[in-house]
Amino acid sequence: MTVLNPFSEVTHINNTALAKSPEQGKVSLVGAGPGDPDLLTVKALGVIETADIILYDRLVSDAIRSLFPAHCQSIYVGKVKNRHSLSQEKITALILEKAQQGLHVCRLKGGDSFVFGRGSEEMLRLKNSGIEVELVPGITAASGCTSYAGIPLTHRGLSQGCTFITGHAEHELKLNWQALATLDHTLVFYMGLSQTTLIQRELCRAGLDVSTPMAFIENGCSSQQRVVISTLAEMAVIPSTHNIKSPALIVVGKTVNLAEQLQWFGSLSNDQARQFSA
Ligand code: SAH
Repeated sequence: MTVLNPFSEVTHINNTALAKSPEQGKVSLVGAGPGDPDLLTVKALGVIETADIILYDRLVSDAIRSLFPAHCQSIYVGKVKNRHSLSQEKITALILEKAQQGLHVCRLKGGDSFVFGRGSEEMLRLKNSGIEVELVPGITAASGCTSYAGIPLTHRGLSQGCTFITGHAEHELKLNWQALATLDHTLVFYMGLSQTTLIQRELCRAGLDVSTPMAFIENGCSSQQRVVISTLAEMAVIPSTHNIKSPALIVVGKTVNLAEQLQWFGSLSNDQARQFSA
C-alpha cells in the first residue's frame, strides 16, 4: 500500500533525483472552466495574474483571455479537430522548455485539465522531467454547461448518477453501450457532435427508449449559449437542422425534462425542437 501525503517527507524521498534546481521554473496546469470568467476559481485567477507566461487552448474564452495581464506573454497552443496547430508532443515540449528556462508557466485549458483534457499526460511528462507541477482544478463542461442549462446531473427519483463519456475516437468509437443504457444515469457526451448517429443507434439498440429526453448545449456558460432539447428519436438530425457547432455537449437522460422548469440563464424561444438561447 502506498500512502501519498503531500506534506510528509516520505513522498519526497524518491524524488531526490528530480530535485528542482534553483533556476528551474514551475508549471501550473490550470482549468479555466467552461467559458464564463466568473467561473474561474480564485486560485486559477491568481495563477493567471502572476505567471510569467500563459500557454492556452482553443476553449479558453475571449472573456477569460481579456484577464491576461498586458505584460504577460501568452501563446495560443490550441488544437482544432483534425487540424492540430501544435501536436501534443510539441505542446508538452514547449511547456517543458519554458519551465526549464526558469519561468512560472500557466498552462490554461478549458474546463478541467483532468477531464478529457490530456492534463495528466502533460503532468506525467513534466514530473518525469523533474519539473514542479501544480494542478488547479476547473469546472468541467458537464457540470458548468448543464447548470447553466438548468439540467441537473442527478435528481432524486430520476437519475442516481452521471457518466461522462468521450465521443472522440481515433478510429471507431467503442463503448459499453449496454452498460450505458442500463445505468439509468444522466449521460454526458463530450466531443460527440460528429458521432450523433452512432450514439443514437447504439443507445437505442442497447435498450434506451427513443422517447428518452436529450439535449445539445452549444457554447455553454457564455452569452452565445444555445440549448436544444429533444428526444433520442431526433438526436441525429438536430445538429444539421439546428446548425449546432462545436463546442457542444450532448446530455441524455430523464433530468433533461427539468430544463424548462429550472431554466434561469437566457430566454426561451419556441421551436420544433425546444431551444433556449442565452
Ligand atoms: N477539459 C474540458 C473538456 C475538453 S474536451 C472540460 O473539462 O470541460 C472538449 C469538449 O468539451 C467539447 O468538444 C465539448 O463537447 C465540451 N465543451 C467544453 N466547453 C464547452 C462549452 N462551453 N459548451 C459546450 N461544450 C463544451
